[in-house]
Amino acid sequence: MAEPVRTVPSCGGLERQTGRIAVGLENGIPLSPFGCSLKIDYPVNLYDAHNHFQDDWLLPHRTAIDADLRAIGLGRAVVNGTSEKDWPVVADLARQFDWVQPGFGLHPWDCGNRSPDWQAVLRTQLAAEPSSVVGEIGLDRWILDRARPDDSRLAGLRRAPLDEQREVFLWQLALAAELNRPVSIHCLQAFGALHDTLRVTRLPARGFLLHAYSGPAAMVKKFADLGACFSFNGAFLKERHAAKREAFKLVPADRILVETDAPSMPLPVEHNRFTLPPAPDGEPVNHPANLAATYAGLAELRGIGIAQLAAQVEQNFLRLFGA
Ligand SMILES: [Zn+2]
Repeated sequence: MAEPVRTVPSCGGLERQTGRIAVGLENGIPLSPFGCSLKIDYPVNLYDAHNHFQDDWLLPHRTAIDADLRAIGLGRAVVNGTSEKDWPVVADLARQFDWVQPGFGLHPWDCGNRSPDWQAVLRTQLAAEPSSVVGEIGLDRWILDRARPDDSRLAGLRRAPLDEQREVFLWQLALAAELNRPVSIHCLQAFGALHDTLRVTRLPARGFLLHAYSGPAAMVKKFADLGACFSFNGAFLKERHAAKREAFKLVPADRILVETDAPSMPLPVEHNRFTLPPAPDGEPVNHPANLAATYAGLAELRGIGIAQLAAQVEQNFLRLFGA
C-alpha cells in the first residue's frame, strides 16, 4: 500500500510546550492552532470523543496517523468497537497507543449479526479494561428506511428492526449504568424513539455522549436535561448541514465535545488538513488528525476562540470519559 499523501498544517506545524499543543494568544485573542505568530502559550490538549482507529481503511496508515496525532497535540481519543469481531482489535490498540481509550459496544448496524453469547463477551471485555467506554451503541432507522440495498458498508449485515435494536441498546445501557461507564450513542433518524428510551431508563451518573448529533435543534435541551453531551463532527461544516450547525450553537458550553468518527465523515475539502488515499471502493477516508480543523470550525461557529473552546472541551471530556 502506498504511503499516505499528507498535507501538513501551514507554518511548518505547531509549536509545542511541555508536550502539549500551544494555542497562541495575541493581544488576548486566541489564534488558530494553524497560526504562525504564537506569543503567549496556552497549554491544552485536543480530544477526539469518537473515532474508529481500528477500521481496516486506516490499518495501512496507523504509524503515520499516530505521528500526525501527536503533532496536533492529541490528548486522547475514544476508539469505538462496534462488533464482537473488532472488540479485541480495539483492546490491542489501547495497549499499543497511549492515547487510545477503548470503547466496546454492539452498534445498531451490527446487532442483527450478534452471536448468542455476545452479552457475556461484552461484559468480560469491559471488565478487562476498567477505563473502557460502552460504545458505540444506539438506534438507527436510516438503515431500515433510507439506506440503499447495495450500500457496501451494510454488505452481509442483517438489518435488525427497531424493536430488536432497542432491546440490544437497553441491555447495554443497563450494563453501563451498573458499571457507571461512559456511553457513546449513535442515532440516525430515530431521535423521538431515542428520547423515549433514555427518558425511562437508568443512565450512568456521569452522563452520556450523543455522537455526531444530527437531531433537531429543539431537542438539544431535552437531551441535555437527561445528561447528554454532544460531539461536533467536522462533516457538519459542509454547506448542506446548516440545520446541524444551528443545533450545535444551542449546546450548553459544559456539554460540548469534538469528534472525527474517522475514517468516516470526511470534512469539506477546504477544511481538510490531513488526507489519506481513498478506500478500495473509492470512498473518501477521513484522517483522524482532522480533529484540529474540526475544533477550528466549531470555534468559529460558536463565535469563540480556539483556546477557550479547547479548554472547555478538555474539562468536558475528562468529566465524561474520566481523568
Ligand atoms: Zn462511529
